[in-house]
Amino acid sequence: MFPQELKCPLCSLTELQIGGGMVSCLTCGYKSESNRYLNLLSIQNYSRPCPHCTTRALVDLEKTGLYKQQGPLFICFSCGKSWLPEEMDYCPECGDPQPREGFQELIICRSSVGFYVCRSCYNKTCSPE
Ligand SMILES: [Zn+2]
Ligand SMILES: [Zn+2]
Ligand SMILES: [Zn+2]
Repeated sequence: MFPQELKCPLCSLTELQIGGGMVSCLTCGYKSESNRYLNLLSIQNYSRPCPHCTTRALVDLEKTGLYKQQGPLFICFSCGKSWLPEEMDYCPECGDPQPREGFQELIICRSSVGFYVCRSCYNKTCSPE
């Protein structure tokens, strides 16, 4: 379930469903494109590419001030996938939030110290010449 603040704009209930690029309310039938819903909450500027569906609809709830210190911290408003705070990390290379299990340690190709970057940055940096 999603935090209290993600309300249906019509009936103010929190039974929102996200999927297929749409945000919809089961109770009153409200349905909107993800982007429009982000606009409505004025959080569209916080959207990042979703690691799951690649749509730019992933929102860090803490940055938007919607996070209540429990439950998922990252929500994709397009595919509906959500991540707990400990499941995501910001990649130091591209600055986007990425699932932690996708991080690779860059040691061989850049320095002996080693630091963790997301998979796509890793592939970019370490791709064979
Ligand atoms: Zn509703
Ligand atoms: Zn997604
Ligand atoms: Zn990256």
